[in-house]
Amino acid sequence: MDSGAQVLEKYKMYIGGEWVEAASGRYFETDNPYTASPWALIPRGETADVDRAVEAAHKAVTAGPWAKLTATARGAMIRNLADLLALDADRLAAIEVKDNGKLIAEMSAQCRYLVQWYYYYAGLADKIEGAVIPIDKPGFFNYTRWEPLGVVGMIVPWNSPLLLLAWKLAPCLAAGNTAVIKPSEYTSASTLEFMKIVEKAGFPPGVVNVVTGFGAEAGSPLVDHPKVAKIAFTGSDATGVRIYEQAARGMKKVTMELGGKSPNIVFADANIENAVKGVISGIFAATGQTCIAGSRLLVQRSIHDAFVEKLVALGKTARMGDPAKMETQVGPVTNVAQYNKVLDYIAIGKKEGAEIALGGAKATRPECGKGWFVEPTVFTGVRNSMRIAQEEIFGPVLSVIPFADDEEAIAIGNDVVYGLAAGVWTQNMGRAITMAERLQAGTVWINTYRAVSYLSPFGGYKRSGVGRESGQEMIKEYLQLKSVWIDVSNAEAPNPFVLR
Ligand code: NAD
Repeated sequence: MDSGAQVLEKYKMYIGGEWVEAASGRYFETDNPYTASPWALIPRGETADVDRAVEAAHKAVTAGPWAKLTATARGAMIRNLADLLALDADRLAAIEVKDNGKLIAEMSAQCRYLVQWYYYYAGLADKIEGAVIPIDKPGFFNYTRWEPLGVVGMIVPWNSPLLLLAWKLAPCLAAGNTAVIKPSEYTSASTLEFMKIVEKAGFPPGVVNVVTGFGAEAGSPLVDHPKVAKIAFTGSDATGVRIYEQAARGMKKVTMELGGKSPNIVFADANIENAVKGVISGIFAATGQTCIAGSRLLVQRSIHDAFVEKLVALGKTARMGDPAKMETQVGPVTNVAQYNKVLDYIAIGKKEGAEIALGGAKATRPECGKGWFVEPTVFTGVRNSMRIAQEEIFGPVLSVIPFADDEEAIAIGNDVVYGLAAGVWTQNMGRAITMAERLQAGTVWINTYRAVSYLSPFGGYKRSGVGRESGQEMIKEYLQLKSVWIDVSNAEAPNPFVLR
């Protein structure tokens, strides 16, 4: 993968407030999925770079000016970052599109919106309050303090690099920690561009660091480093399990935002036109490369055929092509390995006996050029036990499964190892509330799909994760609680051999 090509843009990493090459001097290429060709060179960080970054972050959180800032000043600095980010949102969106192939229509909205995570947690920075406990022992004063964890390692995937980083970095900084970020090897450029804004915002050296590189070479040493207190990870469950085990050896805290196989459940009493759009948005938006993809359509048997017909009719109209054009609706798959994986799953579905109602092949439309495009695909005749119904494909592939009634919808909906999200389409509010209660998922959307906010907690049940992101409560995922005891009685100390 190393290349000496001079025409490619050459990035540097950001460690301890400096722009640096990897210690080895090596680079790797990053590709534009629409042209299927490299466009930039990214430093290939390894253990030595991780060590340097963690040392810088550790120094910043223990002895640097960051550690002495008041919470209000910390919040002001994060707010300043948000102001600057908002000015640069369109530029960052264009880089994301070039690097990960997601639509400019989605990325510009996303880059503008992600600023809200920084504003929200900036505001929360000086509202982290301990408590005075009405302790049961006379003569004692007992209070609690929420304290930062220290250095947080952040490992991020390629599907929404800056958004998923904001979910971690904003609360991490608001809580007073420092960060070492390892972006995906497929989409590192936007994070490095983002660091130029972090630098401009005036964060002291070492508070935010980025080491680019591959999972095994740069991610794994970050998880292992003894001075890293917590790993905040978003990615596949296979990698998540490996990191969770590795982090356990160092007794590190973790948040894990992993994959999903979310059911989008349509009842016969739904607003059908809206449900069709909701199902399309759940699986074909972002080319299905989203953890919350509604990749299983559970549709009530009485409307199955009519619903599938409408779905296929709308799916057929999806405009594929250049993700940098505002009118494009389905872009390429981000990398060639994922492209091949999606095509493999389509072959698996066919072999399992499911029927193709739409797509089912690589896209060869002229507007797709040489890019890694897969036709939006709908499988019918799917049984929930099939691999295409159980495994995360992370592409534009929908499995349609009929159900008879509420009980069967719940049974099929919950019959996967994942529990990230679920959609329910019905006009019966009693049914909606019961479904929301019984579905084992961290997020349930009723008559909508794919809505997220900085205000509302997000995370997985079952194999979809550990911990939550977004919302007020989750700042505690970046804090630890200390209990302080003071004997204010000045009384003679009691028997030292007995617990007080
Ligand atoms: P991935 O697990 O392959 O990689 C994620 C990150 O982990 C990358 O930065 C990678 O370099 C790093 N990594 C890989 N091996 C590592 C190792 N041994 N040690 C340390 N780091 C390592 O995931 P991906 O393919 O980039 O992203 C897609 C996955 O992310 C999907 O499964 C998707 O569902 C999941 N995802 C989850 C959420 C969520 O919030 N729950 C959001 C988006 C994506």
